[in-house]
Amino acid sequence: MYRWRGDTARIVVQRHFYEGGFILEIRTDWDINVTADMLIKRMGGSRKGQKMLGECLEVIDLGKKLLEPCTIYDIFSVKGIQGENVELENGLSFKSEHLAKLLHGTDRIVVMARTIGPVLEEKVRYLSEQGNFLTSYLLDVYANAAVVLLGKMMYRQIREQYSSCGATVQMEPGQLDWNIQEQTIVYKLVSFEKIGVTLADSFLMIPVKSATAVFGIGDPVKVQKGFPSCTYCSKKNKCTYREEVERINREELGVEV
Ligand code: SF4
Repeated sequence: MYRWRGDTARIVVQRHFYEGGFILEIRTDWDINVTADMLIKRMGGSRKGQKMLGECLEVIDLGKKLLEPCTIYDIFSVKGIQGENVELENGLSFKSEHLAKLLHGTDRIVVMARTIGPVLEEKVRYLSEQGNFLTSYLLDVYANAAVVLLGKMMYRQIREQYSSCGATVQMEPGQLDWNIQEQTIVYKLVSFEKIGVTLADSFLMIPVKSATAVFGIGDPVKVQKGFPSCTYCSKKNKCTYREEVERINREELGVEV
């Protein structure tokens, strides 16, 4: 298992090869560069945010020193997609209509977990307890931006490794109709305690500034780009998920971080 202090230098990139030939990769050598623009955008892009540029830059300096990024991913063969069920060759399965639509045409899924470690969120808590609410708030915004950015960096790196394949966008347990309880299946697939992350009974990851995601790869002709469109969906007029789908598609186009 990865332990935070002292182990960082040793575990940079670790690869294991399973009997099936698939890769389990753990990485800690991520250079995460959250910018002041990203922070201001996360605060609603307001003029107030612009006025806090100085504070944002200080928090970016502080936050970067407290990051302890660690990621893990593995790849699994898809046996079949029946309705809302995505069945894997190893006998495990996911249940989500949106995930099933997203993965239509893929033959493998990439299952990923990431964290920026516990130190930054401990600092956020400490600053709040000390009554330094502004810095605590800004550092929390920074931490959230860092987790999102790490997810994008990880996704891009894996896509580059499989550049000859088509790849879908990412989807996370708890997103749209995908029940957060399926974090337990993600956990069975990539044991994220190897990167120092545990799963609470509430399915919350600890450290909290951690996340998981899945995307599909396969024949570039068969794998769809972007998220399935809502245009032809019978539920589109009363759907509470549409905004989220539109956000995923904007992210895929690189419009926001
Ligand atoms: S309208 Fe809603 S249910 Fe239909 S595809 Fe879009 S997000 Fe999904």
